[in-house]
Amino acid sequence: MSIQPTKLEITAGGRLRIAWSDGQVREYAVRELRDKCPCATCREKRSAPPPPATSLPILSAAEAAPLRIAAMNPVGHYAYGIDFSDGHSTGIFTLESLREMGEEVARSK
Ligand SMILES: [Zn+2]
Repeated sequence: MSIQPTKLEITAGGRLRIAWSDGQVREYAVRELRDKCPCATCREKRSAPPPPATSLPILSAAEAAPLRIAAMNPVGHYAYGIDFSDGHSTGIFTLESLREMGEEVARSK
């Protein structure tokens, strides 16, 4: 994959914005990225049967706080590791998957 991010920033609204080398600019809700976290633990959680309707989910303080991206770390030239503010940091997001998530908000020429 030869298209690379040229700029990463967090918008005023707390979304991740990535400018790509082909001129596309995409924005990502942090919650969307967290929900699509590709690590083994999260994949397992998503495929588990939903809890019984009578049980209320119990959120830790970190989970209840607004979710932010604490850090993004390049993994070679093909992916980013994302540290979320809830302490979860094992997800490796490939550039290809990032191109499929979020929404295109602009195209610079
Ligand atoms: Zn995960």
